[in-house]
Amino acid sequence: MVRGTSILHGECICSGRGRAPGAVTFVPSARAQGPAHPAALLARQVVDHGDGLLPVGLGLGASGTDGRRAVLRDRFVVPDRWRDRVVGQHVILVEDAWLSGAKAQSATIALRDAGARWVTILCVGRWLRNDWPDHRALIARLRAPYDPQLCPVAGGPCG
Ligand SMILES: [Zn+2]
Repeated sequence: MVRGTSILHGECICSGRGRAPGAVTFVPSARAQGPAHPAALLARQVVDHGDGLLPVGLGLGASGTDGRRAVLRDRFVVPDRWRDRVVGQHVILVEDAWLSGAKAQSATIALRDAGARWVTILCVGRWLRNDWPDHRALIARLRAPYDPQLCPVAGGPCG
């Protein structure tokens, strides 16, 4: 899905930011980091497709093992060895599953704190819970299955 989205809508994502992405990374978890993480494979697919995209690794910060669904500025860090690939860049951040968005947003803060100019979150799937009121409302609005032709930037046909 990541490869299909980046092929079908890569230009939409770039035009929305005014600059092509220069780096790609993924949201690590406390359980699996580095190349073993499932999202790392997805991020590599984006690197393989992207023209000149450089991989960047995120590390766990001081609150990296905090289990709360909360946006935390110090949940992730950009290690010094990757900072040159981030500063001033448009970074694609791959997330394998979106539950609350807190981890992807925390990773975005880490990338912005390290100097990224823009961050685009490319989420592969969303985990919905019918016992959470905001998720229940979203489920009630769903009418059609995933359609790769639906533009994630325009919300309809590509703009
Ligand atoms: Zn599009």
